[in-house]
Amino acid sequence: MTSQLGQVRAPWQRSWFYRAPGETGTLIWMVLIHTFTVVGLVFLPLPGWQAFVVAGVLYGLGALGTTVAYHRILAHRTATLNPWIERILIFFGIFNGSGDPLTWVANHRYHHANSDREDDVSSPRHGFWWAHLRWLWQAEQNSPERYCPDVVRGGHQVWKKLQAPILAVSLFGGLALLAFMDWRSALAAWLWVGPVRLVVALHVQCSVNSLCHLGPIDADHGSGLNVWWMTPLHMGQGENWHANHHRAPHSARFGQRWWQLDAGWWFIATMDRLGAARVKASARVRSR
Ligand SMILES: [Zn+2]
Ligand SMILES: [Zn+2]
Repeated sequence: MTSQLGQVRAPWQRSWFYRAPGETGTLIWMVLIHTFTVVGLVFLPLPGWQAFVVAGVLYGLGALGTTVAYHRILAHRTATLNPWIERILIFFGIFNGSGDPLTWVANHRYHHANSDREDDVSSPRHGFWWAHLRWLWQAEQNSPERYCPDVVRGGHQVWKKLQAPILAVSLFGGLALLAFMDWRSALAAWLWVGPVRLVVALHVQCSVNSLCHLGPIDADHGSGLNVWWMTPLHMGQGENWHANHHRAPHSARFGQRWWQLDAGWWFIATMDRLGAARVKASARVRSR
C-alpha cells in the first residue's frame, strides 16, 4: 500500500476514478451493475415471485460460498472440505461477485495482519467509502503468491480465468428469458436475478469492511463490530459477527451466542458430521 510520502498521494486521497494497475475492469463492473439497477428499477415493473426466489437462492448460495469456502476454509484454514463441495461453493461465490478466491484470500489475510493500521487495505480510517467500495479498484491488490501460496498451490488458479465468463453469465444470463416471455416481463425478471442481486450482494459483503469496522479500536483485536441488524441481509450466514471473528480468527464459528445466527458454521459442522469436512479441534472454540 502506498503511504503518504512528500508529494505522493495515498490512493484514498485521489479521485474516485483513479484505478490501481489492472483494476479498470473492476470499476467498469461497478458502474455497469449500478447503472442497470438504477435504470431498471425506474423503468421496469416488479417481476413475478419466481424471479425473487431464484435471486434469493443464488444470493444465499453465493453468501454461503464466500463465508464458508473463501473465508473460513481457504483464508483461515479452520477446516478442510470435500473438494467438490468446495468447488461448488467457490463457483457460487464468484457468481455473486465475490471475486476470484486467490485475490480474496490474499487481501483478507493482509487485512487481518494489519487490521486498522495505516496499511490496512480496507480500513474505514481512510474514509467510509474507501473501506466500503473504493479500495476494490483503487488499492493494489495483494499478491496471492506472497500471502496465500498454499491456496495458489491448491489448484485454485483456474478460477482467475473462469471469473469473467462466470460473471458474464451471472449478469446477463437472465436475458435468455427474452426467448420465453414478453420483453417487459423478461427484463423485469432479469433485473432482479442479475443486476439487483449483484448490487445487493456487493454492498452487503462490503459492509463487513465498512460498517463492521466502525467499532472502537482495540489494540489486540482491531475495530471489528458485531452488527446484529445485518443478520437478515446476510441471510444468517454469520459474517456480521465481525468482532467475534477478529477476536478468534481461527475459529470456524463466528456466532458465539445462541441468538447469533451463523449458518456458515452450521453448514461446516453438518458437513463434518456427514464426513464431508473435517474441522480442526482448535477451530471449534468460542471467542469468549
Ligand atoms: Zn475485519
Ligand atoms: Zn477473517
